[in-house]
Amino acid sequence: MFWSDRVDAPAPAPPLADTVEADLAVIGGGFTGLWAALQALEDQPGLRVVVLEAEQCGFGASSRNGGFCDSSLTHGLANGISHWPDEIETLVRLGRENLAGLEASLERHRIDADYQRCAEIDVAIEPWHLESLAEDIEDFRGLGEDVDLLDAEQMRARVDSPTYLGGFIRRNDMALIDPARLVWGLRSTVEGRGAAVYENTPAHAIKRQNNRIDIRTPSGRVRADHAVMATNAYPGPVRRPRRYTIPVYDHVLMTEPLSAEQMASVGWAEREGLGDVSNMFHYYRLSADDRILWGGYDATYHFNNGIGDSHDQSDKTHSQLAEDFFQTFPQLEGLSFSHRWGGPIGTTTRFTATWGTKFDGQLAWVAGYTGLGVGASRFGARVALDLVYGRQTERTDLKMVRKHPVPFPPEPARWVGVQLTRRAIQRCDRRGGKRGPWLNLLDRFGVGFDS
Ligand SMILES: Cc1cc2nc3c(=O)[nH]c(=O)nc-3n(C[C@H](O)[C@H](O)[C@H](O)COP(=O)(O)OP(=O)(O)OC[C@H]3O[C@@H](n4cnc5c(N)ncnc54)[C@H](O)[C@@H]3O)c2cc1C
Repeated sequence: MFWSDRVDAPAPAPPLADTVEADLAVIGGGFTGLWAALQALEDQPGLRVVVLEAEQCGFGASSRNGGFCDSSLTHGLANGISHWPDEIETLVRLGRENLAGLEASLERHRIDADYQRCAEIDVAIEPWHLESLAEDIEDFRGLGEDVDLLDAEQMRARVDSPTYLGGFIRRNDMALIDPARLVWGLRSTVEGRGAAVYENTPAHAIKRQNNRIDIRTPSGRVRADHAVMATNAYPGPVRRPRRYTIPVYDHVLMTEPLSAEQMASVGWAEREGLGDVSNMFHYYRLSADDRILWGGYDATYHFNNGIGDSHDQSDKTHSQLAEDFFQTFPQLEGLSFSHRWGGPIGTTTRFTATWGTKFDGQLAWVAGYTGLGVGASRFGARVALDLVYGRQTERTDLKMVRKHPVPFPPEPARWVGVQLTRRAIQRCDRRGGKRGPWLNLLDRFGVGFDS
């Protein structure tokens, strides 16, 4: 993976080989787990925090993503409005506060993660995309977003592709980040504040004994007063999230760095984050060294919540992504891809995170941000801490936090449902955005499948 396989990656932390006592144990060393550790240490300096990571911190989605760091906590505004129309203003405000808090944390702890505030553009490449973009604009403006529609000429003056028919630019509440550097920075910050991080240390089993949480790993054990489980798409030792979250594989290509001439042929002077409006959408951005990260399109679910290294590479999806890339940027013909990878996104039927507790609230878990967890995972961790420390806050009062999404059915219905939905989504894209009976039915129940 491009982000994590760089020469300045930190040395691995040692595995746990003993029994340790902790005030707070965190299971999973992705963004959620590391933000939980950091925010807990900021709330209570000196807290004994232990982080258990099955592989290396950032092994999961947190080092594999596109680095789009959006303020949205609800997988976009439209999804938030459709599920929580009464709370949307609060959700938008909390999302902005979360992004500002993330930015302040990076400054405070001097984490250099190439964080850049920038605009985001949804690009129209089919006529129906233009209509769909125009529909949303008043909702965005009503909630204080600085948004505008771009015609084809304005769009191509920013980034040049013959496929562009227009765009929707959002100038606030978005940033791009180097995800692995964020993971590394968070890890070293929590270690600097006294947390013990153990890598190659999967939590195998968990129980409560004498009012303490007892976590077993292959060669050690943690006894803690409280715990946060932050394994997202991966099955952790608490089973409950598996009802609500499934792992969906999303794939990415990274090009070689573009030459100055290649950059000039594309434009992209303001280095916006881009995505198209199709249901099976692509997202793309520039890296600090002028590569293009190009991901998305297909979202693959493997039977029985299948997860593992064998799903990281998909010749079919990666070839399709390459074909789509050169259709978008024919002027870059001949450019090669230096990296390709995939990773599991934890999704729920409502596309946002869900939270829960166990052991009378001594443990909290959070999972399911879908494809917008880079920023939202900090909020997810904050809420998980509210829950384990029994704090009633504006956050814990949110319906999004109090209520679970509709669960996925058990297998084999789970797999069949996902395949039917994927096919219906493909048909919808082919038929100019007409949703068809299956998607209309799901819409009526407020459920769906997305990445
Ligand atoms: C290809 C891809 C592109 C994406 N692009 C974007 C994007 O551009 N913007 C955006 O906002 N979001 C994006 N996302 C989603 C985003 O990356 C995630 O929502 C976010 O990283 C979730 O963080 P997390 O810490 O909850 O989960 P993860 O990063 O998956 O962390 C979970 C960790 O738990 C560990 N673990 C699992 N089991 C155990 C165990 N038993 N014991 C100990 N540790 C365990 C895993 O090894 C892993 O490190 C993308 C995701 C993918 C896969």
